[in-house]
Amino acid sequence: METKRLLEQSSKYLMNTYDRAPIVLRKGRGTRVYSTDGREYLDFAGGIAVNVIGHCHPRVVIAIQKQAQRLLHVSNLYHTEPQIRLARLLVENSFADKVFFCNSGAEAVEGAVKLARRYAREHLGEGRFEIITAFNSFHGRTLAALSATGQAKFQKGFEPLVPGFRHVPYDDLEAMREAVNERTCAVMLEPIQGEGGVRVPSEGYLEGVRRLCDEAGLLLILDEVQTGMGRTGRLFAYEHFGIEPDIMTLSKGLGGGTPIGAVLARDRVVEVFTPGSHASTFGGNPLTARAAVATLETLLEDDGMLMQECQRLGEYLRRGLLRLKEEFSGTVVEVRGLGLMVGMELTKECTPFVKACMERGVLINCTAGSTLRFTPPLIVTTEEIDTVVDVLEGVFERLS
Ligand SMILES: *Cc1c(COP(=O)(O)O)cnc(C)c1O
Repeated sequence: METKRLLEQSSKYLMNTYDRAPIVLRKGRGTRVYSTDGREYLDFAGGIAVNVIGHCHPRVVIAIQKQAQRLLHVSNLYHTEPQIRLARLLVENSFADKVFFCNSGAEAVEGAVKLARRYAREHLGEGRFEIITAFNSFHGRTLAALSATGQAKFQKGFEPLVPGFRHVPYDDLEAMREAVNERTCAVMLEPIQGEGGVRVPSEGYLEGVRRLCDEAGLLLILDEVQTGMGRTGRLFAYEHFGIEPDIMTLSKGLGGGTPIGAVLARDRVVEVFTPGSHASTFGGNPLTARAAVATLETLLEDDGMLMQECQRLGEYLRRGLLRLKEEFSGTVVEVRGLGLMVGMELTKECTPFVKACMERGVLINCTAGSTLRFTPPLIVTTEEIDTVVDVLEGVFERLS
């Protein structure tokens, strides 16, 4: 009854921007979420790569409770300890020298774009403002991030877009080389395309892009909003490829479920930002910063044990899905991914598969039309992975 009323009010009062499942979630613990009608779900969507250490991780909850009693917000005209601690943790564990905090992935991308443009103005000259991004990429929904995104379906009806973005096919180094011209200032890529269908680049691609950027004097921006924070089995995905970016964006997993984003960069780049260059009222707010510190400390403890497990569990999940590919070769095109960022491309539209999984108590999501995406918390167990593979087998039997 309560559920029905809430669902009615949801469509009455909320803008219709999401194709939401008809359930109301009220509680989450670890890998599971619970609905108002008393059902339990294994959450393999993980808040779309947000709940890296699970729902309501005790360490994050306690950090938030303590911080909420002490200080919720002051402006960025003053220093706060949680923000400083978080910046230090990020710098000590990445390529970067400095951090700027904001509140979401799109905002982090906006910050990165502004930083790259300002850097290019000061170091390369007036006419260098173009940023090369990939087709099929996803960088967010605000106007510049949307313009950077290489997918027309997200941009339709919102023109004019922000000028200064040029798109090339992903994983095609030659196309990237040809796109560089006298206006180019930076390249921006996801190390693995997330919303584009979990696309892992070929060996040598990102290394080649890094080399190209160095030769042409371009900044390399890696959008690790989805791949960052341990998701791929390393704290940041670039670590797999033996390269480092000049600028990196983070968000999704960073705050342990609270909204926070970050732009990380090297000193030689960030020196073009001075007081007044960029700002955010809530960016690095004590509450979310403290939650992020708890999240990062959890990921880093015991020599990054959770991230090492992530590699092993990711392989275990991919093996399970590959068995289904053998069994249902007419339905499954490919299984791909890194760590616990896994995609399973189907020969058909995948929404009915997502629905059928939900009816059987498993939450996953569908991206790029025909790719099932699995981004469970890193604390998932092999038994839970077995459950999900079994559920999928049942669903494939019915829908193949
Ligand atoms: C989700 C995502 C974004 C946008 O993040 P929001 O917090 O929704 O603004 C940007 N880049 C990548 C790679 C993402 O996956």
